[in-house]
Amino acid sequence: MYHSAIWDEPLLSELQDTKKEKFTTKSILPKSLQRNSPVDIPTIDETLVMRHFMRLSQMNYGIESGIYPLGSCTMKYNPKICEEICRWEQFTMLHPYQDETTIQGTLQIIYELERMLCEITGMDQFTLQPAAGAQGEFTGLLITRAYHEHRKDFNRDEVILPDTAHGTNPASAAMAGYKVIEIPSTKEGTVDLEMLKKVLSEKTACFMLTNPNTLGIFESDITEIARLVHEAGALLYYDGANMNAIMGKARPGDMGFDIVHINLHKTFSTPHGGGGPGAGPVGVKQKLERFLPVPRVVKKQHQFCFNYDYPESIGKIKATYGNISVIIKAYIYILLMGGNGLKETSEVAVLNANYMKKKLVDSSLYQLPYRELRKHEFVISCEQLLSTKGIRALDVAKRLLDYGLHPPTVYFPLIVKEALMIEPTESESKKTLDEYIETLLKIAQEDPALVKDAPHNTTVQRIDEIGAVKNPILTWKLADKL
Ligand SMILES: *Cc1c(COP(=O)(O)O)cnc(C)c1O
Repeated sequence: MYHSAIWDEPLLSELQDTKKEKFTTKSILPKSLQRNSPVDIPTIDETLVMRHFMRLSQMNYGIESGIYPLGSCTMKYNPKICEEICRWEQFTMLHPYQDETTIQGTLQIIYELERMLCEITGMDQFTLQPAAGAQGEFTGLLITRAYHEHRKDFNRDEVILPDTAHGTNPASAAMAGYKVIEIPSTKEGTVDLEMLKKVLSEKTACFMLTNPNTLGIFESDITEIARLVHEAGALLYYDGANMNAIMGKARPGDMGFDIVHINLHKTFSTPHGGGGPGAGPVGVKQKLERFLPVPRVVKKQHQFCFNYDYPESIGKIKATYGNISVIIKAYIYILLMGGNGLKETSEVAVLNANYMKKKLVDSSLYQLPYRELRKHEFVISCEQLLSTKGIRALDVAKRLLDYGLHPPTVYFPLIVKEALMIEPTESESKKTLDEYIETLLKIAQEDPALVKDAPHNTTVQRIDEIGAVKNPILTWKLADKL
């Protein structure tokens, strides 16, 4: 293999011989940066260290501890085989800039995953470079700008999105230099066509839409939406974070979308959270291929190689070729599941969500705003709990912790008051779903004082969440603790 030759023993001794000095980290550091006295590290015995880290790991909660129905995040089971394979030395020891003839396997995976995503989404071309959904959005908007400028259409500086949009949509649009125009949804919880018609103009660059939207509702007017957007000369952007609802059933490319991003870490199985790791591949229709980031991986005869020859490309969006370990995991996941498996994934995800929704709403303890039928996730409201018992969505979420359960997403989408956004995913059993439902019903009937003071059984109680975000303590001073 080509990798890491620089640390090989023979090379090291060769270096030592020729330099006639000991090749240590110290010898290659400038004097001014070298330490004068040994570092003051506490001495703790191995047993204590082991127990400390074991205890920390047990305080953590993940999909391996229990259900994790964090709406919009698709916290599904991630097959261990994917983790195992992406850690193979054949992948991890590669250098991103070694000669392409020596990384044919990895290039083949990139190439083939792009083709698989085209098939799943109905798009023509893909790039795997963006490192997250949000970066995929940003990439898509740069492509949008390049497209309009290419057509000498310089006056389009507006991006329209519905009020159910994920916060990254307006943020990405603003970062790409666009004015953001938000339109209110209908009483059904879908795009208001009349509103859309009103705001579409020769200034519209694109309309960004999630389908099914963040309420879990499928935008059934999608073909009419696509027609209106295209008639106005704008592009239609698909936020693919909810792809887990429709795989093998419907394709954004067939609905009329021009650009899509897919969150590989959500739909295609990478353990994620706390900001990473992720990948947000972007797919486009053929007319937009010329603007995709470089390099593209192409196949020439039997050889995979990089092609930088796209003069109208928006350029590079991330170092090297994307978040390779996430890409490998998605590739293996798709191969493992197969076409029918992916379709079944969506069917079970939708069934699980609607099962939970029905049981919760039938209880009348939680309310369901907007349309009845949901896809893979649903949003219920604690408004009645608040008005009758003073219990808020946040209190319910905190009380779930006492039962050892991870809470759903709260207070999103913004248009639902006291929102609990639940996405069970396909990987939970009926027994687990029933237990979660029963716990939510129980909490709604508990003594309000108990719920409002929750959690009672966790290591820390209510934390200052704003303080943690605004004034994070990111360093630990060794000396203070000794
Ligand atoms: C998660 C999510 C995003 C952003 O994706 P990241 O990968 O977290 O950057 C965008 N839109 C929706 C609807 C999402 O759920």
